[in-house]
Amino acid sequence: MLILLCGIVFGVPAAMAQVVNFDTEIREKGFGKNESRERGVGSWRKGPTRVEIQDRKRYVLVNGSRLYLGHSPSFEHGKFFLKKRDWEKRIEPIVAPPKTKSPRCIVIDPGHGGRDPGKVNKRGMFEKNYVLDISKRVARILKARGYTVLLTREGDSTLELQERPARANRWRADLFVSIHLNSASSSSARGIETFALTPVGEASTGDPGGSAKSAADDGNARDPLNTLLAFKVHSALIAKTDAEDRGVKYANFAVLRTLKCPGVLVECGFLTNASDTALVSTKNGRERIAAGIAAGIEAYVRSVGTAPSPRRK
Ligand SMILES: [Zn+2]
Repeated sequence: MLILLCGIVFGVPAAMAQVVNFDTEIREKGFGKNESRERGVGSWRKGPTRVEIQDRKRYVLVNGSRLYLGHSPSFEHGKFFLKKRDWEKRIEPIVAPPKTKSPRCIVIDPGHGGRDPGKVNKRGMFEKNYVLDISKRVARILKARGYTVLLTREGDSTLELQERPARANRWRADLFVSIHLNSASSSSARGIETFALTPVGEASTGDPGGSAKSAADDGNARDPLNTLLAFKVHSALIAKTDAEDRGVKYANFAVLRTLKCPGVLVECGFLTNASDTALVSTKNGRERIAAGIAAGIEAYVRSVGTAPSPRRK
């Protein structure tokens, strides 16, 4: 009743309280004026960062990469409106990263293993083998830069899904990155996509009409940092590989739900697509993927804190 009264007194419907004016919010973070002349399209810039938004498109573009939203923005009377939760959990952490304790302990999770091969393509490539190789490369690069890096599995062992975040929690990880390869029924599907845990009250990216997530998981305590990590890893990975950019998405993956640190899951290409397979099947291609993931982790660390001193050779 009180909410209803307030709504009447201030002339704003109660539901509007959960919506923000995108232009006001982003300009408060130091971005310039909307540079777009196209109706229903907004574009703001600050230094090297450009954010674009479109009427009724369920994503924003950050430097050209899609970051999927819980709800599509609306365009009314020349202004863009966005759900407050989409602003706070997905866009604000990227345009104005929060400061945290500088991450030092990184847990890399090579997907599948042992009895679980993951995806197997027609050429007989097992996902479990390729993601382990990529993970070891990421670990080597980050260790040289001064990080402590632990792998959830070092060899071809079987590991339950829940045991992966449980290990990261026991090891007091500061960051968690799960590494996978994709597959699809169509051989034309290709590219890289990076996932963060779906925030409470929203449906996952792949299921926009599905029911919203009703209860918070432990991993949801770090929704803004999950998004920032996903965005940094994804951008660096696309830059290093030139793979097709499928965007930053949200899903309720079991390996992300119980984490007590920021975490993401990266799908580094499709084993069912010829150009992605060409990248993954060569040492040079896997090294590029690993360099992208490591560079993204480092970019995240620099945006929330400070980088460690590199290890002397
Ligand atoms: Zn997988």
